[in-house]
Amino acid sequence: MVLLALLTTLNSASPCNHPKFSFISSWLAPLAEACCRLLRLGGCGQVTEQVLGCQGFWGSIAFPIALACLGAVLLSMVLKACWELRHAMSSERGSSAAQQAGDALSALKAAAPSEYPPASHAWTQLEVDKGAAQVLYCTGCHKPIGSPTFYHSASACAACGAVAHDSCLRGLGDSCRPLCLAKATHWWQVPGAVLQTADKGTPSASLPCHLCQQGCGLAPVTPEPTWQCGFCAAAVHVQCWCNVHGAAAPGVAGALRSRGADAQADESLSDSCASSLASTDTEDEEWASPMRRRTRELRRRQRRIAERDMHPLDACRPSGPASGAVLLPWSVEAAPGHDGADPGSDAESLPDRGRGWWRPRRRPKPRPLRREGLRVSAARLPAGCRPVLAFVNTKSGAQAGTAFRQRLLRSLHPLQVVQLPREDPVVALRPLLGLPGLRVLVIGGDGTVSWVLSAIDDATAAATGGEAVGDDEAPPAPPVGIIPLGTGNDLARVLGWGAGAAGWLDHSALGLLEAVEHAAPVHVDRWRLRGERREGEGGSGGKGNRPAKDGEGDDTLDKTMTNYLGIGTDAGVALGFHRMREGYPNLFGSQLGNKLLYTWLGAQHMLSIPGSDLSDLVQVEADGKPLELPAGIQGLMLLNINSFMGGVDLWATSSEAGLEQTLQPQRLWDGKLELAAVFGIWHLGKLQIGLDSAIRLCQCSELSITLTKSMPMQVDGEASQQPAGTFTVSRQGQVPMLQRVHPALASVVKAVTDVLDDAREDEGISRKQHAALSSAMATALQDKLDPNN
Ligand SMILES: [Zn+2]
Ligand SMILES: [Zn+2]
Ligand SMILES: [Zn+2]
Ligand SMILES: [Zn+2]
Repeated sequence: MVLLALLTTLNSASPCNHPKFSFISSWLAPLAEACCRLLRLGGCGQVTEQVLGCQGFWGSIAFPIALACLGAVLLSMVLKACWELRHAMSSERGSSAAQQAGDALSALKAAAPSEYPPASHAWTQLEVDKGAAQVLYCTGCHKPIGSPTFYHSASACAACGAVAHDSCLRGLGDSCRPLCLAKATHWWQVPGAVLQTADKGTPSASLPCHLCQQGCGLAPVTPEPTWQCGFCAAAVHVQCWCNVHGAAAPGVAGALRSRGADAQADESLSDSCASSLASTDTEDEEWASPMRRRTRELRRRQRRIAERDMHPLDACRPSGPASGAVLLPWSVEAAPGHDGADPGSDAESLPDRGRGWWRPRRRPKPRPLRREGLRVSAARLPAGCRPVLAFVNTKSGAQAGTAFRQRLLRSLHPLQVVQLPREDPVVALRPLLGLPGLRVLVIGGDGTVSWVLSAIDDATAAATGGEAVGDDEAPPAPPVGIIPLGTGNDLARVLGWGAGAAGWLDHSALGLLEAVEHAAPVHVDRWRLRGERREGEGGSGGKGNRPAKDGEGDDTLDKTMTNYLGIGTDAGVALGFHRMREGYPNLFGSQLGNKLLYTWLGAQHMLSIPGSDLSDLVQVEADGKPLELPAGIQGLMLLNINSFMGGVDLWATSSEAGLEQTLQPQRLWDGKLELAAVFGIWHLGKLQIGLDSAIRLCQCSELSITLTKSMPMQVDGEASQQPAGTFTVSRQGQVPMLQRVHPALASVVKAVTDVLDDAREDEGISRKQHAALSSAMATALQDKLDPNN
């Protein structure tokens, strides 16, 4: 429309007579005339009448509407161009701010090199939200990444949150968060643009500078050189930092070249900051027990030692929910000469740039962490720290493990995240075992849980040098929580962690850590299976993702059981499932797929193999007395927990077969096993959908089972063909697990657990008393512990 008006004006104005411009009027004139005609025609509706055949009301307004639409499109294009220009200008300012902050950080690191090399980055593909107003800045070249119109493929570090162009990764090397630090100081990073808030979940465009309280940020809000602490998320203007550190920061101040920083110590700012910092250093002691106060006093003294020779404003004290679960690098010590990485590892490097742009660049893989040389010092742990050690099976059932691992890496120290089956859990446990308040989180299926439980046994035995020592001399076994990723997840169900990972996938790392923090420790019975196999017959099986241990597969049976043991029908199906999983690992991607396959195998089993009557083939002795098995049973189950093969509560729903014994309700810590039976696969199938009930046989604390012929047997879902022979089942002891509690009770449970833990640490009570008190609390709260009630 603007153009048309201009042309009309030009046409009506007297034509320019200058010979140089006469050609303009010569070709403008017919164009303008055509436009005038169009306008005139449009105004009176003749165009639409002539061209489209419309008449009347629509004929008169159709053309102006079309013109208005065209105008709107043109206007939006102009506005978009202006916005992009503004965006480009602000990202340019942000880019120079990031460059200055990066230069200043390099100067700082050159002036005070770290005693220990940092971990290597864990690069993953960066998904840029192209519609977002935020611009991310590359850690390498400080240029913007993924502006709305211009996009390079880029990566983000799952551990420290740094972002970089894929082409800049080579130059970055190992500069991730440090594994060890001598002092509890802030560890500065140049933020990729968005600043991380303390919970690392919701990034924010601007945070207050912890020195001047003015907004910090790179783009597009306040493009000033900014640093952010990788541990407590405090943000600071580099200029403010230089002012406070005065003469100690000439190189850093020099790097802030364009701002003309004159590094003068701002004493008043320094003093006011120091006093405000001191005033926040109060801890509510009124409610604390005397024992707890003493422990805190001791730890505070140790902390003061760690903070010596350090500017008071540099002290880093992460706070916020679940911050106690995080191990900080100033609690970790390295053996001399240790560089954190495995020297024998095949650290992959990027191919040379010269190989050509058409080849996709591979991200450098992180060097595997060498845990042996690192040690966590209990004396340097901050007050209230209850570190969590997370074992993530990235190959477990639903394969959601990788997502959980990345989430946890972002918040926890690299020592606290163990990737199974790649890493050895015993080695991973060693640096942390025995720390006060240590808790373990297993993200995986039932097989992974029993693997980690055995690893805890092995690590505890190794810590005492393999010698039998008193209960109170060995490091205490940490309680174990479970995020279920497997198919059955029976133990996780019983302990209130849910039937699958679905409910946990939308939790942040903090949510997971908080769930662990608020769970109640209970002591669950474990049982030992020992027996002789007859000569010439060997077993087969073992869960796919767990390497076979020494002693497995030879002639003696020696296993530990936590959940249940099945002989006969159910074990036959489980064995078929296990063999299929070995043969076709790709089929087992989803939990639902696994269940369908399991059902199908069950149906196949039911139609093809007539089950054998176990009452003739198996002899059972319970607590020294022979037990008569009902005729016609095809499956025998020995239960420790009240969930069998994916959530069936066999004991509570089962009927009694005329027993003399009065049966107790099933408990996880009562030292008793429950023996139940089914009449074949059809009966088992009806049990699973709640149409029938199993037969209760007895409740006992020791058992001897004789198989007169080889038959399938499963222990905690791990199936194998068990040769003929006799084996005994006896209690091995108890293992601490974590039970989820109703949110309303969580704080009470946490306070009681804290008091019990402190009492044990200060040797007010023995390990045994501690276990007994925890179990007493769990029994008292039994009905209220279930988070779903
Ligand atoms: Zn990193
Ligand atoms: Zn770059
Ligand atoms: Zn900090
Ligand atoms: Zn500031």
